[in-house]
Amino acid sequence: MGIKEWRSLAVQSISLLLVALVCCISFAERIQVKPGDTVMAVEKKQEQEIKKEEEVGKKEEIRKVENATKNQVENRSDTYIRVPKTENTKLAKVTIFNEYMESKICMSFQGAVSGSVTKDSVIRVHGFEVKKGPAAKKEFILKKLVINDQKQQQAEKNVISVEMMTKRLYEPVLYEAEDAYYISLAEPKEIFDKIVVIDAGHGGMDEGTSSKNGLHVEKEYTLLVTNHLQKLLEEEDIKVYYTRLEDKEVSKKARVKLANSVQADLLVSIHCNASSVGDTTAHGVETLYSNRKTNQKLMTNKRLAQIMLKQFENATGLRNRGTILREELYILNHAEVPTTIVEIGYMSNQEDLRFIRKDSGQQKIALGIRDGILQALEEETRDGQ
Ligand SMILES: [Zn+2]
Repeated sequence: MGIKEWRSLAVQSISLLLVALVCCISFAERIQVKPGDTVMAVEKKQEQEIKKEEEVGKKEEIRKVENATKNQVENRSDTYIRVPKTENTKLAKVTIFNEYMESKICMSFQGAVSGSVTKDSVIRVHGFEVKKGPAAKKEFILKKLVINDQKQQQAEKNVISVEMMTKRLYEPVLYEAEDAYYISLAEPKEIFDKIVVIDAGHGGMDEGTSSKNGLHVEKEYTLLVTNHLQKLLEEEDIKVYYTRLEDKEVSKKARVKLANSVQADLLVSIHCNASSVGDTTAHGVETLYSNRKTNQKLMTNKRLAQIMLKQFENATGLRNRGTILREELYILNHAEVPTTIVEIGYMSNQEDLRFIRKDSGQQKIALGIRDGILQALEEETRDGQ
């Protein structure tokens, strides 16, 4: 090998080493592996990173309509919030999140100069009523207004967040006009034709029932089925609200309040069953209902429970245990909209449990619920005409 070849080989090797080094550094930065971490620990960290990213996505971010006009805003709804643009907010990245379980809208200005958004700059308009400053008792739109200004030295790092607790549940849209940001506030029933509320039973400290050995808990499977269902319902022309999409405690009152305040066409609550201690033979699916009147003319709770059970049986092939009248359950007893509780199987029964735990089983369950929802909505529309 001549000197030239040796030189080119050396250059190649050094370049390769450099590439490897750069890769190592960026990988280490992303997952922050510490010396002494085992492969298992690294995998766990990766998992946590992914989980964190997923959790951030759980708040519903509202997309922004750019180059909007005041007319456009007023055409959608006569109820809106206006935040004027100033030199100090012009360069900020503005986003809003709808935390509908709390009737709370959060607006954030990333990169605004500290002090540039105050309670006076959050102007609330409802028809001819115009308010600014702290939320007052008589006000139509806001119940409470909180501004968190982190006061960083550099404006690029400063985040001002505006938390707006509203008196009713709104479906907001953010408009960016030349002179101001507008948050248009419409009530769901004004803009959506069909609204469904899906309730994943239990959550957080409330684990629900469990398998015989206590290893598997209900709250986990009601959420997994809900996740499958969410993907299926994204394909449909239906607005869906979820009482929870993560492992957290939600009161029964808040679950029902969501369905009542959006005036949902249907509320479907997902649960797992279990029989009394020691009995492992009971198995199959059932739907629960009450004889309470609903806000729909023709869709009774009982009819919804029947439709849901039939579709559910078709999709899963599980044993049909029938529809069951349960007047005393909080959700059934307080919902003003057609409501059913779907018991997706017995966790105390080995075969049902195996089905519920499998991803393919959860998918079938979700398909059954989706089909039940579609049929019930169709009947409601057909009979309502
Ligand atoms: Zn339950």
